[in-house]
Amino acid sequence: MKQKFDIGIIGAGLSGLTLGNSLLSKKINNFILFEKDINTKNDKTYSFWSGPGLFDIKKSFSVKPKKEWSQIEIKVKSKSYKIDLGEYRYACYSSESILGELYKNLTKKGIQVRQGQSVKDIKKKQDGWEVKLKSKKILLKNIVDSRPNKTFDDKYPSLKQVFVGSEIISNQKIFDENVVTLMDFAESKKNVIFTYILPFSKTKALIETTFFSSEIDFKAVEKIHKLTLLKFNVKEITRTEKAVLPMSPYIDRRMKNQYFKIGNFAGASRPASGYAFTRIALWAHQIKTKKEFNYEMIAHKENYLTNWLDKIFLSVLRSNPQIAPEIFRIFFTKVPTSSAIRFLSDQSRIFDYLAIILKLPKLVMLRGLINLYVK
Ligand SMILES: Cc1cc2nc3c(=O)[nH]c(=O)nc-3n(C[C@H](O)[C@H](O)[C@H](O)COP(=O)(O)OP(=O)(O)OC[C@H]3O[C@@H](n4cnc5c(N)ncnc54)[C@H](O)[C@@H]3O)c2cc1C
Repeated sequence: MKQKFDIGIIGAGLSGLTLGNSLLSKKINNFILFEKDINTKNDKTYSFWSGPGLFDIKKSFSVKPKKEWSQIEIKVKSKSYKIDLGEYRYACYSSESILGELYKNLTKKGIQVRQGQSVKDIKKKQDGWEVKLKSKKILLKNIVDSRPNKTFDDKYPSLKQVFVGSEIISNQKIFDENVVTLMDFAESKKNVIFTYILPFSKTKALIETTFFSSEIDFKAVEKIHKLTLLKFNVKEITRTEKAVLPMSPYIDRRMKNQYFKIGNFAGASRPASGYAFTRIALWAHQIKTKKEFNYEMIAHKENYLTNWLDKIFLSVLRSNPQIAPEIFRIFFTKVPTSSAIRFLSDQSRIFDYLAIILKLPKLVMLRGLINLYVK
């Protein structure tokens, strides 16, 4: 079998398409993508932060947000805490528009994105990797794999983010369209449970019920989601989304024999939040051109301080979920907003870490730290 392409990217989702665009900008074009789905789906709402000093994702991806907000709200025991974001913004984008734009950039430059071609198997051969599709086999020198893992890491302090969301139209003008409800906490001894609301207008919003938990129990999430929706006098559900995302500080570093794992399960997903968009955008932007496609070129560069703080956060959330609402309240209301946003966006400066460490409850965090080493 002849090698027609240097690099085969499995999955034309966020990390695969972003990588493709980054390679193309570096004049590397001998690659192909395989995607199991036939069309780019509108099955995810991507949100992230923007503002002074942050990497400009909007410009880099040339996309327009579905909506931007300048205020967020955290709710603990029904008490509302509103935070003005100043020059920063929280914005959301439909996966269809983001992935569609990335897909278009590739195909108009002649890159093949084979949609509807599920990769059934890959095998190491002497002269490369054999990719098995439904009706044929292709030989490639390098494989970049963004497929999700079949199982989730359960090593302490890892968690899973399990969520169910519904985009709704209400019969009433019920939403404050200027304020995102980032976390409206429910009381729970077992899991961290909260509602996330992206209001698009006074009557339209995406409402998500999220669990940070060590188990994957969609039934439990859906039950609470149904009850939550009752509060919003729903006229119509226009779209739904659901997922389980890894919250793990342990990166899947399968990168040898010219096989490279990327995406959510290879360090893109932020351990303490499950957010991955900014990390993927930064990662692809920082990829350097090298003569040979190699590990150094493509690996997620781990920020040890961020990862360490995320581990402590996770340890607290996993051992003591009841305290999570208070920790998040303190994080968003006491830590300077710019420091909190830079931390959440993987772009912390040293004084941001100091601001966070100084504000968070010392005893709780210390217990979280100790648990990391004795559990
Ligand atoms: C509903 C949802 C909402 C999210 N919201 C946010 C958010 O607001 N902010 C944020 O920062 N992060 C968010 N995330 C997390 C993260 O940004 C996304 O999961 C992101 O899409 C991860 O990129 P990825 O490339 O790892 O995975 P994906 O984008 O899922 O890409 C993997 C691709 O591989 C394809 N594939 C799988 N198996 C095969 C196969 N056998 N052959 C060929 N192709 C295959 C899939 O169809 C998919 O297109 C969200 C995730 C989900 C699921």
